[in-house]
Amino acid sequence: MTERIAVYPGSFDPITNGHLDIIERARGLCDRLILAVLVNTEKQPLFSVEERIALIGDNVATGNGARVEVREFSGLLVEFAQSVGARMIVRGLRAMSDFEYEFQMALMNRRLAPRVETVFLMAKEEYSYVSSRLVKEVARLGGDVSALTPPGVARALRRTFTPS
Ligand code: ADP
Repeated sequence: MTERIAVYPGSFDPITNGHLDIIERARGLCDRLILAVLVNTEKQPLFSVEERIALIGDNVATGNGARVEVREFSGLLVEFAQSVGARMIVRGLRAMSDFEYEFQMALMNRRLAPRVETVFLMAKEEYSYVSSRLVKEVARLGGDVSALTPPGVARALRRTFTPS
């Protein structure tokens, strides 16, 4: 049987428990899950791509299901997906606010690569409001985000936003 390869793309700036929840669910649906970390996001990232990959680090090393690989990518997502032999793109959906953009992207990607399917997953309710943007905003103002991110990420945010 051919290996089912899925790509989960994102900025992961930084990775949150919402992302980790989606990753755990996606691992049950494929044999290999490639976390594709976008190099040049339109938004100016807080962490460099190397830092974002380091912060993903061990958090995806163990668990059930597909093995997880982390790669950086830039350019067209469907081209990246095809270059690694993936037939599935995983995206997470939170509230309605995600829907319109994700819907447009999924249909555009289907136009560009009809054989690559986009699959949407929902995280646990308790993470449904968690975004990298909000986590950074709260951390910037000195709030505690340790329940919403892996410990290494909470530490990195504290280091970044603590005046020296
Ligand atoms: P992007 O800049 O591509 O949106 P993100 O790193 O912000 O990158 O998100 C990557 C994907 O993970 C997106 O599909 C986003 O909707 C999803 N995602 C992020 N946080 C959550 C969450 N808490 N619950 C469900 N999906 C999420």
